[in-house]
Amino acid sequence: MIARRLGRSVVLIERGTHPRVVIGESSTPLSNLLLEELTERYDLPALRPLAKWGSWQSAFPDVACGLKRGFTFHHHRLGSQPAPDPARQDQLLVAASPRDEIADTHWYRADFDHLLVKEAQKLGVDYLDRVALRGITGIDGEPTLEGTRDGQELTLRAKFIVDATGPRGFLHRAQQQEERALPGFPATQALYSHFTGVARLADTPFHRADDMPPYPIDDAAVHHVFDGGWIWVLRFNNGVTSAGVAATDQIAAELRFANGEDAWQRLLQRIPALQAQFVDAKAVQPFTHMPRLSFRAAALAGPGWAMLPSAAGFVDPLLSTGFALTLLGVERLAAILEQEWGADTFEAGLQSYAARTDRELIATARLIAALYATMNNFPVFAALSLLYFAAASYSEAARRLRKPHLASSFLLCDHPVFGPACARLLDRAQQPMTAAESAQLVSDILSTIEPVNVAGLGRPSRRNWYPVEASDLLESAHKLSATPDEVQAVLARCGFAEGSTVQSDQGRAN
Ligand SMILES: Cc1cc2nc3c(=O)[nH]c(=O)nc-3n(C[C@H](O)[C@H](O)[C@H](O)COP(=O)(O)OP(=O)(O)OC[C@H]3O[C@@H](n4cnc5c(N)ncnc54)[C@H](O)[C@@H]3O)c2cc1C
Repeated sequence: MIARRLGRSVVLIERGTHPRVVIGESSTPLSNLLLEELTERYDLPALRPLAKWGSWQSAFPDVACGLKRGFTFHHHRLGSQPAPDPARQDQLLVAASPRDEIADTHWYRADFDHLLVKEAQKLGVDYLDRVALRGITGIDGEPTLEGTRDGQELTLRAKFIVDATGPRGFLHRAQQQEERALPGFPATQALYSHFTGVARLADTPFHRADDMPPYPIDDAAVHHVFDGGWIWVLRFNNGVTSAGVAATDQIAAELRFANGEDAWQRLLQRIPALQAQFVDAKAVQPFTHMPRLSFRAAALAGPGWAMLPSAAGFVDPLLSTGFALTLLGVERLAAILEQEWGADTFEAGLQSYAARTDRELIATARLIAALYATMNNFPVFAALSLLYFAAASYSEAARRLRKPHLASSFLLCDHPVFGPACARLLDRAQQPMTAAESAQLVSDILSTIEPVNVAGLGRPSRRNWYPVEASDLLESAHKLSATPDEVQAVLARCGFAEGSTVQSDQGRAN
């Protein structure tokens, strides 16, 4: 759609047909902000409502999605149900929005992707589905794609190809590229499906109704973490719930992921809380087993082509990094097409895009590798997660303040101080740790995030429940080289407190 808006003639090629069910569903504040910015910059108003739950419900009530108010994490020991921890050391709740209207969403991809394809066609994109591509020639000059559609030969000559076919996708195969390793990342697998009849966790005996969480715990990306893996549960508003497990090869072999549903049931039996939640659940899609989750392409771009970040690599669904990384890539590629098309700098622009995409993939892999290493040391896992939440909320705030230069890389990995400090902490997290070393690491993580912490993360009084409070951002204005008035204006612009003035409460008890 952006390429059309930039005056190019565009052909969109799809192997299958829409609507079709695919995985990769949970959005984040940063991904929705990027979506919103792209719709404004490239005049795509029809897509703008998709950036928030409330506007989505008004504009597209028939396009299924889920309400995502935050990130919920619960820690489990397989095979046991320990007593609830009053200090909440076994959980982490990070709100992403203060109310439903401006909340994030889980994209029910069958509906969502179909909508995008129809919008693209309205803008004049030629959409060809049921295409079986055979190969490509002249990739670094004037690429020519060859294949068949419904048994008929198809040849397409293009000036530029954007590969959006996902990990191990078309250009990776057509160029017979090697796969590169993600340094330090464990070999992991996934098993997942879509279900109906999944109860809300809050309605099971697992939930402790003694306190008010910052948002309803099920209206979130819910993560159940155990030694060597984790389970996601994402609820949509059409009665469907997406759920699955990502885990190391060792766990996958132990549970025999290749057996599909039987393996899923074996896992549920070891987590009583989930067993209760899924007691009446029924899989409505065949189980998918992915025997290898992570991927890193050997080459990401050339003079006549570029892979989207989603085709260039993948780490793990943990923390929902996929859409944000991809939309950052879309933003950068769009700028190159807009500003450097036909110029001498075009190729250098693409190489810089490729290098940044790869750096961000590696930074993400480093973080998630450290999270895998500490899944049985939940206080450290929770603290490491704050590296992500601090960087993401700082980036969102910087962009909303129109200061994107403060946060130009994902996870602030190119930030001169935060980037290297973060890498050192993540290396430490990979080592075996005593209790004292764990405590020291948590403390060092909290000191590292402090200069970019605009969300009150890590405050002991919050006992791992982090609401979205305007006061946190107002009190952190200086970290964003902004005044409290500028922050107030941003909060008003993004509908933070509809119809009310946002007050700073400096004196609030911590
Ligand atoms: C288990 C899992 C869970 C995930 N969860 C999340 C999440 O919660 N949040 C998040 O942000 N990201 C998540 N991701 C990542 C997310 O899936 C991707 O970032 C996202 O799907 C990218 O969308 P896409 O449309 O670019 O690619 P895809 O969804 O991979 O779609 C690729 C399209 O290309 C088509 N195609 C493939 N090959 C060809 C070919 N040769 N010719 C023509 N067409 C072709 C396919 O049919 C498909 O329609 C997850 C990934 C996995 C594996």
